[in-house]
Amino acid sequence: MKPSITNPTHLWGIDLGGTKIECAVLDKTNDLAVICRKRIPTEADKGYQHIISQIVKLVNLVIEEIDEQPVQIGFATPGVLDPASQTMKNCNTVCMNGQPMHEDLEKALGIPVKLANDANCFALAEALMGAGKSFPKAELVFGVIMGTGVGGGLVVHGKVISGHHGIGGEWGHNIIEENGEPCYCGKAGCVEKVIAGPALEKYYQKISGESLKLKEILERYLANTDEFATATIERLLEYYGRGISTLINVLDPDLIVIGGGVGNIDLLYTEGYERIKKYIFNDKKISTPIVKPLLGDSAGVFGAALL
Ligand SMILES: [Zn+2]
Repeated sequence: MKPSITNPTHLWGIDLGGTKIECAVLDKTNDLAVICRKRIPTEADKGYQHIISQIVKLVNLVIEEIDEQPVQIGFATPGVLDPASQTMKNCNTVCMNGQPMHEDLEKALGIPVKLANDANCFALAEALMGAGKSFPKAELVFGVIMGTGVGGGLVVHGKVISGHHGIGGEWGHNIIEENGEPCYCGKAGCVEKVIAGPALEKYYQKISGESLKLKEILERYLANTDEFATATIERLLEYYGRGISTLINVLDPDLIVIGGGVGNIDLLYTEGYERIKKYIFNDKKISTPIVKPLLGDSAGVFGAALL
């Protein structure tokens, strides 16, 4: 028998990833302490309906474990729910695209659900529970993802701003390079095609004829032993400066948190920070705090719970 107890101060969140689905329940009355955390495989190769049934399975496991029913659940999703058509778009788990996921989840779970892009959830969690805690006066926090792709999310006064089309914060698909590499989004020269990890590795291979991981390219840059590595990391710093400066010129955030594998590169916070100065509309002066995230893997599921 399912329990009939609910607790509106317990926040339920689910991070829907391509390989795993994770659920967390946070206690609003106890500084967002984690009450329960559980994950199961997504098994996305078995299709969309299977993903929905895996979600239901996970929710039931958590209900059993904490002996209480959720009142509502927030979801961090790849891609986004299109506000006009109410179907998913831009998901790299492609079987979700075109599906009325919001409606299907509410039907399957029998409670209200809220969906948000995973980069938005990252930004929300870091703003309220992570890096943002050291900047309590920050009104506008921008969360940047720089990894295999480039994305971002915008949090204003503790709320995600997903935007008119649901694409708020998607600076990774601004065009930054004339005649640049074609992107899966249909354009060419997007930020993502220049400063994401795979784009940098591809650039290095193009100029050197050698295939290296970004980590090794960075090591060679730091040792100053490889002119092609120098050119690749210079390219990262330069376009990072241009890309982030456009964010600052438009939004002027009080805090920028940079997640993802590329975001882990220390140079971005020293040399990269200097490059931003070149391009911001502020007499080449910058005081925006730009920091690394604090929540690691947990940001997506915590952000979902905070929705
Ligand atoms: Zn693009």
